[in-house]
Amino acid sequence: MTENQTQKYIIGVDIGGTWIRVAICTQDLKEENIKTKVVNTPKESKFSISNSVCILISDLLKENNTNEDQILGIGLASAGPIDMETGEVFNNANLGFREVPLKEPIQAKFPDVPIYLINDCNAAVLGVHYFEASEDEKENLVYITVSTGIGGGAICNGHLLLGKDGNAAEIGHGLVEPKSNFQCNCGAYGCWEVYSSGTGVMNRTIDAIKEGNLNADILMKMVDNDTSKITAKEVFQAAREGDELSKKIVDQCVFYMKVGIGLVNNFYDCTSIYFGGGLMKDKEQILPPLIEQFENNPIIFTINKPPKLKTTSYRDDIGLRGALALIYYKIKNSPILDML
Ligand SMILES: [Zn+2]
Repeated sequence: MTENQTQKYIIGVDIGGTWIRVAICTQDLKEENIKTKVVNTPKESKFSISNSVCILISDLLKENNTNEDQILGIGLASAGPIDMETGEVFNNANLGFREVPLKEPIQAKFPDVPIYLINDCNAAVLGVHYFEASEDEKENLVYITVSTGIGGGAICNGHLLLGKDGNAAEIGHGLVEPKSNFQCNCGAYGCWEVYSSGTGVMNRTIDAIKEGNLNADILMKMVDNDTSKITAKEVFQAAREGDELSKKIVDQCVFYMKVGIGLVNNFYDCTSIYFGGGLMKDKEQILPPLIEQFENNPIIFTINKPPKLKTTSYRDDIGLRGALALIYYKIKNSPILDML
């Protein structure tokens, strides 16, 4: 038997609306031993995603000259909401189908391997916990993704919070504006992600252009006068260049970030919040005013001692890292996962 055939491995999977990422790593979770594959998320049928995951795992095993019996576990992280009991996604807006079975079809292909499903933000907070949080942050830690929507994962007193189905920190649907006319994907009005997510920034910009009260010449020139070309990226860029309307929308995004962060800190009393997601590419316009507010005048937004605000250095890979960390902690019987 070669050394490779006695070695044990962990598999991590991160399923999102655009990408599926799969990784294999030795059980010591050493950085240099992580091997990754990425494909576009297929949406032909309800089983396209699980089929794709199985193929990617099989390919990684083959390339790594590894057998199924060397896998200690598969950590499945997925865009939610998830039902940990049935192993399915439900009410989802980005995976092509509202209900997507995940655990069962993958378990059928790898019958002897333990599989654990959690939502992607819960995975990400585990990733931050293992790969980048300092000792003084680890016990009370929150991860927030600001992307198409806004989602969160929370570790309180050293335990990952899961809730009855596994969706304990759906913070993006917290109400930040009770009198809002803007409807969220979830059906409610005035959710945090209506104002501060990438989709929210885009939609609020298009609404404001229709209203026509503010000058948007710089932005409109940038998109050749075609509002369908506007995304959050152009809005942040136009704001940097002095566009009046874009600056107002970015200010609004940042203001509601303060409201949202204040609520999160009131609920979870966290030492640090790590941010990730596409909008953090423009973190220079978002993070400094937030840090300034919570360092100098937190009481307007939170009654608890303010948290440190940071960004994850693993960017789009943090959910996948967390899926690996999930199995690592499971094998170690870590108290962080005693609710799973
Ligand atoms: Zn909502």
